[in-house]
Amino acid sequence: VNRNAHEPEFHQAVQEVLESLVAVLEKHPEYMELGIVERLVEPERQIIFRVPWVDDTGRVQVNRGFRVQFNSAIGPYKGGIRFHPSVYAGIIKFLGFEQIFKNSLTGLPIGGAKGGSDFDPKGKSDGEVMRFCQSFMTELYRHIGQDADVPAGDIGVGGREIGFMFGQFKRIKNAYEAGVLTGKGLTYGGSLVRTQATGYGLVYFMDEMLTAKGMSLAGKTVLVSGSGNVAIYATEKVQQLGGKVVAMSDSNGYIYDANGIEVAAVKQIKEVERRRISEYVKQQPSAEYHPGCEGIWSIPGDIALPCATQNEIDDNAAKTLIKNGCQAVGEGANMPTTLAGTKLFLENGVLFAPAKAANAGGVATSALEMCQNSMRLSWTFEEVDTKLKTIMANIYQNTSKAAEEYGHKNNLVVGANIAGFVKVAEAMKAQGLV
Ligand code: NDP
Repeated sequence: VNRNAHEPEFHQAVQEVLESLVAVLEKHPEYMELGIVERLVEPERQIIFRVPWVDDTGRVQVNRGFRVQFNSAIGPYKGGIRFHPSVYAGIIKFLGFEQIFKNSLTGLPIGGAKGGSDFDPKGKSDGEVMRFCQSFMTELYRHIGQDADVPAGDIGVGGREIGFMFGQFKRIKNAYEAGVLTGKGLTYGGSLVRTQATGYGLVYFMDEMLTAKGMSLAGKTVLVSGSGNVAIYATEKVQQLGGKVVAMSDSNGYIYDANGIEVAAVKQIKEVERRRISEYVKQQPSAEYHPGCEGIWSIPGDIALPCATQNEIDDNAAKTLIKNGCQAVGEGANMPTTLAGTKLFLENGVLFAPAKAANAGGVATSALEMCQNSMRLSWTFEEVDTKLKTIMANIYQNTSKAAEEYGHKNNLVVGANIAGFVKVAEAMKAQGLV
């Protein structure tokens, strides 16, 4: 704890995983003897660097950049880059730690990492974002590579930012190493479905979980927090499968539309115009806007899909959701539910799909992008979407099987941690003390 003081999010993520592993460690005492757990919680490498850039007024600005290369036992480091003012070492470490198990769950050969900066892209011009991304990559390029470490997007990093970073990497290296970043544009090595993958994958996972319990998404009322990449495509897929999303949010407030959210309108506001979700009610007069994003969890709904950020559902929000009859929660964001909130859902019989299993579709599709880059080929939308669906179904099956095998039937939190851990632990065991 002392070694990682003042990093509460990292402690929270580690606590949840370690509590899940008790039964595995009893069955495999050699993992303790080999120091697998002690090694797992210590990143293989952490890089912190200065990112200087010039804003539109000609003033020099300085941000802090991070890359935490957590674990490479099963493949090259892989994990997104987050640009948000709240970013500091504890956030990047919690995300990188989670990524180890998530990437293992995909069944694909990718290790765990995460990166980012406290740069706030909100309100910045395209030129400012480009200059920042170029400066960020001017340091990052020496630590990454298609066989070493492959970053992608996350909060505040989408296609625009990946494009600027890829351009700078290529310019410095004088090599077209397409597989060095994922989430690229379709004209220069991106994969179809990558934009939709995390949101679609979340809903495929939810559908699999509901079907296993004799339920279905059709006719369900759904709350989706956030209005970014994950939230938009989760909403689109829920509506394609017959559910009705009635609420979305951003960090300022939430919208409620009893008729069902018009996804096309949200895409226009957030993806094209880069404006606030409050704009929605100007176009859809039947909808309501409420300041304060936490209020979204007070709306009655059958299913909650938190797709914004960490710790957005605390115990009070969980109690309200349960009281209002919520039957299932699917975590699109990383660690959106506090430990106390998760406990309440599990104790009250709410079907709970934890982030590292439910939102793994994004990184899985990134690994499919790497695969296409290595082959110098592109698959069709249907080919990638079919693979994504199969991967999400397998993650559900493996997670629920692991939960049952270790005496925690229906607890997918424990199941995901165990299923993700065992593969990494076996690889670490085989590779010796590194
Ligand atoms: P985006 O930047 O596209 O969207 C983030 C959304 O969440 C925005 O609506 C944003 O609102 C809101 N948000 C961010 N921070 C906060 C906050 N502190 N309080 C309230 N709302 C907030 O990011 P993504 O959709 O890519 O990511 C969302 C979540 O999903 C993150 O937890 C991310 O780690 C996770 N994730 C993303 C993957 C991906 O493929 N993109 C893959 C797996 C997980 P505002 O505009 O007001 O900031």
